[in-house]
Amino acid sequence: MADALHVRGVVLPEEEHRDVWIVDGRISTEPINGATTIGEGWLLPGLVDAHCHIGVDAHGPVDREVQEQQATTERDAGVLLARDCGVPSDTRWMDDRADLPRIVRAGQHVARSKRYIRNFGVEVEPEQLVETVAAQARRGDGWVKIVGDWIDRDVGDLAPCWPADVLAAAVQQAHDLGARVTTHVFGEIALPDLLAAGVDCIEHGTGLSDDQISTMAASGTALVPTLINIATFPGIAASASKFPAYAEHMLALHARVDAMVTAAYDAGVPIYAGTDAGGSLPHGLIAQEVQALHKAGLSATDALAAASWGAREWLGHPAALTEGAPADLVVLSEDPRQDLRALADPARVILRGRVVR
Ligand SMILES: [Zn+2]
Repeated sequence: MADALHVRGVVLPEEEHRDVWIVDGRISTEPINGATTIGEGWLLPGLVDAHCHIGVDAHGPVDREVQEQQATTERDAGVLLARDCGVPSDTRWMDDRADLPRIVRAGQHVARSKRYIRNFGVEVEPEQLVETVAAQARRGDGWVKIVGDWIDRDVGDLAPCWPADVLAAAVQQAHDLGARVTTHVFGEIALPDLLAAGVDCIEHGTGLSDDQISTMAASGTALVPTLINIATFPGIAASASKFPAYAEHMLALHARVDAMVTAAYDAGVPIYAGTDAGGSLPHGLIAQEVQALHKAGLSATDALAAASWGAREWLGHPAALTEGAPADLVVLSEDPRQDLRALADPARVILRGRVVR
């Protein structure tokens, strides 16, 4: 079998030193004669960016050429599965491209009128929330994204976007259609209604209290803190001089984010690595987010899980390099558990059994 490949090394998360063969896009644990050895080191199931936006830049939707560049940049960083947390463009065409990462889509952001980044979301009023969530649930791959809070210029600070009863009905509608709901939330005030409505995941979550963290741990509600995006809050505050209360609030949320993540980790909240690339941040930064999660208190192994096997399982994709699993993996030359910087420069990236890096 001329096309068979072979890699060997310490397979994570099992920590087994073994050989892995690759044929017809799948993992084989049985030796394949004549397979070409292409790498050796530490082997991880393909990385996951659990919150990014392929198909948008700071100004709105981008054309296919730019979409392809964004997807390729993620892939070359080892991201072989992306949870797209909302885009105003159609990237379905990528599903036919074996050389581009797999994408789990959340449709287009569902936002309150004039309360989100211009050209990103479907902007509606509360009476249209349920039907809009239903439409986006049908468009996505099992996820819907609701913008839970944003600056209210009349208030001059972050404020919730939706009444509690409408939110609860919208989340119920998504669940009835088999979709999970995630929500963008920076501040404190929107959180009680979002958690009471039964959202499945909190994006950012900088305003989470210890009680809310306990609630999330008990219900299995996930947290994707997007730490390298939160690191931009001081810059957002600096450019918000017209809204001093908002600017001060963003600085305060930024100052406590590592403590919030530590508390969530200690409480057992499922935490996943998302870069939030696509709006203001460039793609390809998953290794930086993993390092930031580690700095915020996750063990190196758990920070890796948050961007690999743990996140894959959460998104319903095979989480281990076992017999018959899709051959989506990265090979690192150094042990990432000893030094997470190893993640930033994969020796090999293999997607659907093909070497792409
Ligand atoms: Zn985002």
